[in-house]
Amino acid sequence: MTEDFRKLFGSSEGVRVYRAPGRVNLIGEHTDYNLGFVLPVALNLATYIATAPSGDGMLRIYSEDRREMRQWPVTGIASLGRARHWTDYPVGVAQQLIGAGFAIEPANLLIRSRVPEGSGLSSSAALEVSSALAFLNGRALPPLELARLCQRAEVQFVGMPCGIMDQYISIFGRERTAVEIDCRSLEHRDVQLPAGVTFLAVNTMVKHALARSAYQERVQECLAAVIRIRAQFPLVESLRDVPPDQFRSLERLLPGVILRRARHVVTETARVGQFVAASEQGALDGMGALMVESHRSLQHDYEVSCAELDFLVDRALEIEGVFGSRMTGGGFGGSTVTMLRPDAVPHFRRQISEAYEGKFGVVPAIYPCEPSAGAGEVKDF
Ligand code: ADP
Ligand code: MG
Repeated sequence: MTEDFRKLFGSSEGVRVYRAPGRVNLIGEHTDYNLGFVLPVALNLATYIATAPSGDGMLRIYSEDRREMRQWPVTGIASLGRARHWTDYPVGVAQQLIGAGFAIEPANLLIRSRVPEGSGLSSSAALEVSSALAFLNGRALPPLELARLCQRAEVQFVGMPCGIMDQYISIFGRERTAVEIDCRSLEHRDVQLPAGVTFLAVNTMVKHALARSAYQERVQECLAAVIRIRAQFPLVESLRDVPPDQFRSLERLLPGVILRRARHVVTETARVGQFVAASEQGALDGMGALMVESHRSLQHDYEVSCAELDFLVDRALEIEGVFGSRMTGGGFGGSTVTMLRPDAVPHFRRQISEAYEGKFGVVPAIYPCEPSAGAGEVKDF
């Protein structure tokens, strides 16, 4: 990257490189903004940013993937508005840093990402977190504050009312373990995954236009459910507070669509705990069954799946050696995650690729989900 940085900006003196990974969520989908539990894994697919002082008062950002350069005088960063452009992610982060008392120094940034965009593997959080580290360029910020600041950039500046999962796991990811995050207390614990299984993400290669508006609609629907429940049970502040065995008694409070949305969140939050317990007992079939339950709930109750995701899940479940499969990420395209025996990987790859291409005319990209370390500076690049 140093060489490419030098070609692009004329000098690579003082260059430093920061990395922030994408993620795959094993279970707990659309629960983070309801303050429930999630169980993601940081991937070895990551976004890298090389940065060095520019010395001329300018902030320049180049995305290799977009082949596009943008620049601003650093003195103007604080007053930029949303541009509905990819630079909204780094600019939103820069503004949050300014708000937190960190000056944005004149600098050049080269972005190189291995997290496929719009794949449900969270290229957006990888971009936010790597940008934040590049802007800080060695200045310290506690990791939880970093995660919250990047989330605020996406919510307030980009306009996507996301939960904290993606930014959190990009920062707190660990090698060889999944991370169970309590999205209310913002505490986490490492969860050992059993031996004898592996996880693969399969990318539908589509992202339907509906994705963003439907996400915003789901956030609103969950809020509507909470308002109705709280009118009778004032202690319920989010759907996280509704235990699944009490949900039946609340059903009469909720109109049809809202009822199904809430039922997904309540049951999905419970499934995270069940999945963690199954994982710690090495109950592989139980884990797989929970993944499939999660997918069916997202498909029928939450209605955020699509034909491509459903096809990949249904087809995966027919392949020898597969324990379970589900959509991962926000939905309406993006990827599935499948749990399978390691020896089944070669024929799984072949069969799922052939089937998907036969049906949709596109070869799906497939990524191993090797739990990797969270964001930081890359010392030997
Ligand atoms: P996901 O996070 O699932 O990949 P999002 O829609 O949340 O999907 O984020 C994708 C957006 O993030 C892209 O449309 C683009 O604006 C931005 N982005 C991600 N990676 C890059 C990159 N390498 N260069 C420029 N923009 C990027
Ligand atoms: Mg995203």
